[in-house]
Amino acid sequence: MLQIQEQIRLGPHTTLRIGGPARFYAEIATEAELVEALEYDGPLFILGGGSNLLVPDEGFPGLVLHLAITGPIVTRENEVEVPAGTEWDALVLHLCRQGRSGMECLAGIPGLVGGAPIQNIGAYGQEAAETIHSVRAYDRESKKFVTLPREACRFAYRSSLFNTTARNRYIVTQVTFALDPEVKPNLTYADLRKHFGPDATPAPLEVYHAVRAIRAAKGMLLVEGDPDCRSAGSFFKNPVVPPFALAPIAAALAIPEERIPRYPASGGNLKLPAAWLLDQAGFHKSFALGEAGISSKHTLALINRGHATYADIAALRALIVETVATRFGITLEQEPVEPHV
Ligand SMILES: Cc1cc2nc3c(=O)[nH]c(=O)nc-3n(C[C@H](O)[C@H](O)[C@H](O)COP(=O)(O)OP(=O)(O)OC[C@H]3O[C@@H](n4cnc5c(N)ncnc54)[C@H](O)[C@@H]3O)c2cc1C
Repeated sequence: MLQIQEQIRLGPHTTLRIGGPARFYAEIATEAELVEALEYDGPLFILGGGSNLLVPDEGFPGLVLHLAITGPIVTRENEVEVPAGTEWDALVLHLCRQGRSGMECLAGIPGLVGGAPIQNIGAYGQEAAETIHSVRAYDRESKKFVTLPREACRFAYRSSLFNTTARNRYIVTQVTFALDPEVKPNLTYADLRKHFGPDATPAPLEVYHAVRAIRAAKGMLLVEGDPDCRSAGSFFKNPVVPPFALAPIAAALAIPEERIPRYPASGGNLKLPAAWLLDQAGFHKSFALGEAGISSKHTLALINRGHATYADIAALRALIVETVATRFGITLEQEPVEPHV
């Protein structure tokens, strides 16, 4: 039965451990409970694993629904139906143990399955969009459950329908993945090639464990007691820029453009590693500004050093964004979501 609680602190429900109370809060275990909860007609926020959130100190003045629908993972030939409240990493492990490839590089990403399509999670050369077949969701506009095929989700780099044009419209209750049995583990990422050597053909489960080990060394795996884990993962997206954006960076650093690391992006654009830009702007690992800081293992993870508030993280964010914009003419975009009305 649906139980609505009041004034529940959100910080403990997030990996950054920051954020004030939800006016109302409910755990959602079934689609029927979701429909019942949606009778509330004030501001609404959907909480998954809380691993991509920066919650304001004043909290959220409406109803927060923790989408915790769990149940069996149903496999039909190459399609796998997964309830939204399933731990993402548990799903990846489950499939890798079955020898299925397609998600092994996404091992160790915190959060729940329902959160994965929202920003189209990606790591080590793979994206969730490559294996998502369809998304079942409650559509708050038509007030019905709908099934959105992959094409309708408009997946792109850290983006989808769900975090752009239809933000807050859909509540994901189940994701169906399609895994091609012909697909072999993806070792395009340099750290993985180095780990296995050039001619290796590791099984998906071996890649799963390798990715987790690489992530642990970078503080990108949630490890109990590790202060570098009080983060929301990468705080900034890798900026996608036109080629002419390289010139001001090269000039500011007095280096040839060829020395600026970059990856090809769509439309002839270039994706620049945000971590490199931060480093070049003087924001190194272990940088601290009061209670906010940068992880000692990864330049791109802003961390709560112990007692940080939203304001502390916002001050560090502003310093980084302003410095990078002034020095290099690049506007950094934040990855974690902020629940606002
Ligand atoms: C240590 C660490 C490492 C990370 N590494 C990566 C990485 O390598 N790659 C990557 O892409 N991300 C990474 N992340 C970010 C994060 O883990 C992912 O974005 C994850 O998918 C978020 O899922 P969640 O369940 O925690 O969602 P939450 O953080 O709870 O929510 C994120 C957003 O999704 C929405 N949402 C969540 N569930 C639903 C649902 N069922 N229906 C509708 N909306 C929903 C929320 O409203 C919010 O807008 C990392 C985070 C941490 C802390």
